[in-house]
Parts: sequence; structure tokens; C-alpha cells
Amino acid sequence: MITDIHYRYQLGGDIVRRSQMTREERASRSRLKPSIGYGEFVRGTLTVRRRTCGNPNCKCARGKKHVSLYITRSKNGKSEQLYIPKDKEELARRWVKGYREIQNLLEKISTTYWDRLKRKD
Ligand SMILES: [Zn+2]
Repeated sequence: MITDIHYRYQLGGDIVRRSQMTREERASRSRLKPSIGYGEFVRGTLTVRRRTCGNPNCKCARGKKHVSLYITRSKNGKSEQLYIPKDKEELARRWVKGYREIQNLLEKISTTYWDRLKRKD
């Protein structure tokens, strides 16, 4: 019978009892669950680029360069970039942030297991 205390967590083939986790690990996993389950996220880095368009009569030719937002990611060893139009900027920022939050939580949990491997007992 699975009770609250003996609630089991399936992870990478190992079954970990929540009651054996540290408070921090349980907290990280609780926050991770909805982020992965319902959150929207994208892996990438947002970069602002300033460029000239080539038109000698444009303001950019006199120093007021065009500002555009790009999202970049590396995939299969290649760098990929995508232009983010103004109307998608907020969305892109939110999704990138969502991914970063998941990454941070994963890193926290991973560190507890790293530390367990490091332990001498
Ligand atoms: Zn221009």
C-alpha cells in the first residue's frame, strides 16, 4: 500500500522514497513538477543585435542602428539562431526563463546526488 510517507518516486530506474529525501530536494521536485507538466519553456539564449541595413540614407548609417532580438541554441554541435519579432519578444523571454528555472531545479537535485556519490560512508 502506498501511503503519503511511502510515496514512491520513479526516476531513471531508481525508486526513491520521498521520505528519504532532504527537505530541499522535495521542495525542488515539487516546484519542478508543474513547471515540466504545464509550463512552457524553450532552451536558448536571447541576444540583442545592433545592425545596419545597408541603406545609406537610413538612420542606421548615421549610427542609430537597428536593434533586433534573436534566440540562439546549439543543437547537434551546431549553433542555430532565430529572429524574434517584437510581438513575440515577451513570449520568448517568458519561455527562456521557464527553461532556466527547470534547469536550476534540476541542477539543485543533481547536486544532492553528486554529494551522495562523494560521501565516504
Ligand atoms: Zn537601416
